[in-house]
Amino acid sequence: MSSATPAVVWFRDDLRLADNPALHAAAASGAPVLCVYVFDEESRGVRPLGGASRWWLHHSLAALDASLRAIGGRLDILRGAGAETIAALARGARRVDWTRRYGAAEIAIDTEAKSALKELGVEAASHNGQLLREPWELRTGSGSFYRVFTPFWRAANALPAPAPPSRAPKSVAAADWPAGAPNRIALDDLGLLPTRPDWASGLRAAWTPGEEGARARLKAFVGGELPGYAKGRDQLAEEATSRLSPHLRFGEISPRQIVAAARKAAHAGANADKFLTEIGWREFCYHLLYHSPDLATRNFQPRFDALPWRSDQAGFDAWKRGRTGYPVVDAGMRELWATGTMHNRARMVCASFLTKHLLIDWREGERWFWDTLCDADPANNPAQWQWVAGSGADAAPYFRVFNPVVQGGKFDPDGAYARLWAPELAKLDNKHIHAPWTAPPRALADAGVRLGETYPRPIVDHATARARALAAFATTTGEDDP
Ligand SMILES: Cc1cc2nc3c(=O)[nH]c(=O)nc-3n(C[C@H](O)[C@H](O)[C@H](O)COP(=O)(O)OP(=O)(O)OC[C@H]3O[C@@H](n4cnc5c(N)ncnc54)[C@H](O)[C@@H]3O)c2cc1C
Repeated sequence: MSSATPAVVWFRDDLRLADNPALHAAAASGAPVLCVYVFDEESRGVRPLGGASRWWLHHSLAALDASLRAIGGRLDILRGAGAETIAALARGARRVDWTRRYGAAEIAIDTEAKSALKELGVEAASHNGQLLREPWELRTGSGSFYRVFTPFWRAANALPAPAPPSRAPKSVAAADWPAGAPNRIALDDLGLLPTRPDWASGLRAAWTPGEEGARARLKAFVGGELPGYAKGRDQLAEEATSRLSPHLRFGEISPRQIVAAARKAAHAGANADKFLTEIGWREFCYHLLYHSPDLATRNFQPRFDALPWRSDQAGFDAWKRGRTGYPVVDAGMRELWATGTMHNRARMVCASFLTKHLLIDWREGERWFWDTLCDADPANNPAQWQWVAGSGADAAPYFRVFNPVVQGGKFDPDGAYARLWAPELAKLDNKHIHAPWTAPPRALADAGVRLGETYPRPIVDHATARARALAAFATTTGEDDP
């Protein structure tokens, strides 16, 4: 093996330099390094990225290339089936390193890559860079996987602390592109950015994809909002949460880095427990995805298979466009469309509205979120949709039907969130902001609101829709309305 024989780092959902064990292993081998990203929509079972995620990926790959170039490397981009492409590239390489993924299709690709590389006599090593614990590390007393969050998180916390995060390598020697390797393509050739129309201006204003943006966000959060997180995280108009989710989704920052920073702040007196518990929820969702690979397509609890979901295109369209007539739901859905994210409390209310008030299958909503969220995550998104619908692990009981008016009053008491995203209601008084149809004609006229014209009337009546949902859910469970 000549000293120019390269080591390959196969980047996927770990688009960062720091605390990246795959990059470290390759850099430490002393070989020149090929850093590659294979855009794979061909392998069997791969779920194509949604529009917002494609936008994010474009910028994240550009940022990773810039970071690599700053330390002597570069990012090469390929398109094709992952295992095949890596094997074709790595013929003659010294080793290939990658960070593990946990979806069924991705595990199958990696298994295929490993055996193809073995046949070629190339060392292949996978690493954990995306989770605090591997999903198979935690088992219940009876040896099965966890279906309930609290004992899962207790068991996770009882294990020795994960290794501290490692720093980015100081330098990487870029290898020459091997003769006969598959053709590289330019980032722009992936066509990840929207063009006609370019709907991404709100995303550009809201986010800075890439490792540097992730690091800055973590620093700002830990030095700013963290102490008030537990109290403020449910308030819709407050920017009290970390906004790290898309950075985590694309691996621009690792959970170990986040935990280390939060723990450091906790030593200095901040209470980080609630925030760390949410990182725990992410771990739990990945635990579920690994052990229940069709999480996005099948009810986790099969008894929900018989649920008589409704087909209601008009209702679904109104929900997607933020025109349900319930301001808190409409604000959430419009925030999502404009910025590629939605506050967690609004996600719960909007998902509950779709699955309970409209009785539309949670999979329809999950797909819409998959397309529109920058943080659309293969584990968190389906697990949380199922949690809200009631069909998931450790789910909210099916009879919990969020009342959007009550939720608005509690978590957006002065209507700032509703007013921001439904500006046609901006002048409506606080008393009626979450239920404009209850406002006296005079109040509506003073606020310039004409129901059914400037703002929709509610597309369903809460009490009627709630009763319909309970009846539908009860037929499948055999339980009565509690
Ligand atoms: C219907 C529905 C769909 C969702 N889809 C996604 C998704 O596709 N991707 C995604 O990352 N989160 C999803 N969530 C979870 C949650 O809403 C987001 O993680 C959170 O709003 C992101 O904001 P943040 O980074 O400021 O979170 P913070 O409150 O600061 O939390 C820190 C991190 O913990 C994790 N986290 C927080 N809450 C949850 C949760 N309930 N479940 C799992 N992980 C959590 C995220 O990685 C988050 O970045 C969904 C929730 C619901 C109800």
